[in-house]
Parts: sequence; C-alpha cells; structure tokens
Amino acid sequence: MTPMNRRKLLCKGAQAIAAGGAALAVMPTLEMQARGKEAAAVSIDYYHKLGVRPFINAAGTYTVLSASTMPDEVQAAVALAAKRPVNLTELLDASGVYLAQRLHCEAALVTSGAAAALVVGTAACVTLGNDRAILGIPTDTADLKNEVIVQKSHRYGYDHALRNCGIRFVEVETLEDYEQAFNEHTVMAHFFNAGAGKISREDWLRVAHQHGVPCFNDAAADVPPISNLWKYTQMGFDLVTFSGGKGMRGPQCTGLLLGRKDLIEAAKKNNSPNSNTIGRGMKVAKEEIVGLVAAVDWFLKQDDVAMETEYQRRADLIAKQLSSIPSLQTQIFVPEVANHVPHLLITYDQNRLKITGADVMQRMREGNPRIELNPSTGGPPASAGLPGGPNTIVVGVWMLQPGEERTVARRLREVLQTAIRS
Ligand SMILES: *Cc1c(COP(=O)(O)O)cnc(C)c1O
Repeated sequence: MTPMNRRKLLCKGAQAIAAGGAALAVMPTLEMQARGKEAAAVSIDYYHKLGVRPFINAAGTYTVLSASTMPDEVQAAVALAAKRPVNLTELLDASGVYLAQRLHCEAALVTSGAAAALVVGTAACVTLGNDRAILGIPTDTADLKNEVIVQKSHRYGYDHALRNCGIRFVEVETLEDYEQAFNEHTVMAHFFNAGAGKISREDWLRVAHQHGVPCFNDAAADVPPISNLWKYTQMGFDLVTFSGGKGMRGPQCTGLLLGRKDLIEAAKKNNSPNSNTIGRGMKVAKEEIVGLVAAVDWFLKQDDVAMETEYQRRADLIAKQLSSIPSLQTQIFVPEVANHVPHLLITYDQNRLKITGADVMQRMREGNPRIELNPSTGGPPASAGLPGGPNTIVVGVWMLQPGEERTVARRLREVLQTAIRS
C-alpha cells in the first residue's frame, strides 16, 4: 500500500468513527480486509517516515547498499520467529545440527556475518582446549600461539576480523616460503577464496595439515554455485565462512561458519550469548538465526542453471534496449569466483557520449525511481574479478526484483541519450 492510499484509508476510518459509536470497530475490520488475515498490526513505512529513499538494486550484494532482500518465505519465517521467545543456546545448537546436515559438513554455527565468523573462527583456533584464553584474548596472549600464515595477495579488507583476536599475520608468496613459515607459534593458515595467489587450495591444505595447523577459507561472496556451500569443507578446509546476506539472501547480519566439530564448539564458546567473550558484541537474535536457516532452505531449492539463465535474460534485455546509443558496446561478464553471476558490462567512446561513468551513476541515483548501479561503474573494480574504468558502466542484475530490468533499461537509455554529442 502506498503512503497516500494508507492515509486515505485511515481518513475513511476516522470519518467512520466520527459518524457514530458503532463504527469504532470498522477501521480494524477494513484494515484486515485490505491487508489479509494476519494484518492485525498496522505496518508503518519507516523509510518513508525517516525520509530515506530506497532504490532499485542494479549493483549487487554490497554491504553498504544493504546487500540483498530476503525472499518472501524467509521474511515470513523471520516474522513468525519474532513472536515467541526461545533459549538462544538451544536455538544455536539445533540450527547448527540442521545446517551441518543440509550442508554436508561436521558442524555449523550461525554468526552475525562472515566477518564475525572470521573473528570467532580465529578465536576458536587460538583458544582451542584452553578456556582461560577465551578471557585473555586479544591482549593477554603471551602463552598462546598467535601467528596466522597468509598469502601476501590474500591480505584484504577483512584482516581486522582476524587481528581482533590478537594474532599477527605472517605473509608468504611462494610454496617454498609457505613450507618454511610454520613454527611453534603458528595457529592457523588463512585463505581468501576469491584472492589471487601462487599457492593453490590443495597445496595450502596439504602443507598446513602436515604441520597439524587448521585452515580457514573465507568464501563469503562465493555462492552461486550452490555446491560451494560444501565444496570447501569437503576439500578439507577446517573452517569455511559464507555471508548470509549476500547470494543466499538471508538476513544481512548473518553468516555461516562451517567445519570441524571441535573448532565450531570452540567458536561457540567465544561467541554471544556468552558474556565476556570476543564475540559477545556480535550477537545474532532468534529472528536472524531462523532467517538464515530459512534462507539456506530457500537457496538449496534454487537451480544454478535457472538462476544463470534468468540473469542472462535480464542483462540481454537491458543491452538490447541500449543498442541504438552511438558507440556503445555491451558484453556479459561473469566474475570467476566471487559474485559468480552474469553482469552487464557497458563501454562507450567518450568522444561520442559526453558523460563519465561516475556521472551516469550519479544521475541514476538521483532519478526517479532511484537506481544504484554496480560501484565499479566509472571507477576502479569494486570487488574481486570485476572490470571498471572511467567510460565503463556495470549493471549487476542478480538482485533486481522481477520486472525491474525494464526500468533500469529505460532510465539508462534516457540518461545516455541526453549525452549524445551532436
Ligand atoms: C562480504 C565479505 C565478508 C563479510 O561478510 P559479512 O557477512 O558482511 O560480515 C568477508 N569476506 C569477504 C571476502 C566478503 O566478500
């Protein structure tokens, strides 16, 4: 219901109340008829009330752009879970057993995001078998192992999540460096799944396991394909994380930590709801735990080929609508690992179109409806494996709601047409 219609309806209700006492019951009845049985509560559009303008997501699953929206069945599960209290430890345990079974791994934990999974997973490795250390990290680490080996090219924007546990990174570049890097302080070997580097996953695992050191793989943005949810644990990674709010379309503040049972148990001890732990500030509520379980159920019902075909269709439709714009070239691009879905890549000759990619992005953002293009538009690549550039427009189609591809195509055509040099 638009705010305008709601106001009208409320107005009608108010008139009915003014018309006579018996009409007091009319308003809720009208509401219920209008909004279906469960509409006992009136929902207020707080985005509208706060003056925050939502947008059509032609970007992708970017955190600051709120990543994804939950499918209806996930939203319904969250709403139902919100109605009754439960014991959080029981819910975390039960959801962990369920997820481990569905995702073919030993154990699982719902965290408040992939970044939180990196924190409590690292804490698990540092404190395994040493409950006193749970209290001590990140400052009282004198008698703890504290070195995490990582490829230099795998240092990234989530380093801080691991460093929160008081560890220090030991960087390696070649397999020989790596073999030499293990010592009595080594506590974990960290791998960034979408990172580039000389050392393969197989070599990474083999050498670490020769030294009895656990390996963590950060695959936060790396579904689809759906089977990645078990691929890396089955390869032998001791811990693997995925973001719950990206491709899986669960609540944005959720993540999956999957892996070895003893490490998952240790991660739980370091996590909310336990007080005085490193993870206490990374609480997941009952709504989010249930929301992620429902999102996993939803995601496992999807089909990789069907998803890819649909994204391809959207990208093709937009490309076709732009075909009359001078000098414009379109190409469908699928990043290798992270965000592994078709994106529409548009390039043009700035001698023919007098506009920068950054200006296109700004005009789309300011227009009506508001549209957010992929942040690689007009600038450097926004995430691993994406192209970028000043005369480049990137459209992420996978987070569009059905039909929005037509609006994106129309608005892009309008913006680009005004830039044609005569
Ligand atoms: C998005 C992302 C994260 C963080 O995920 P959240 O669920 O937002 O905490 C961590 N690592 C990588 C590689 C990511 O892409």
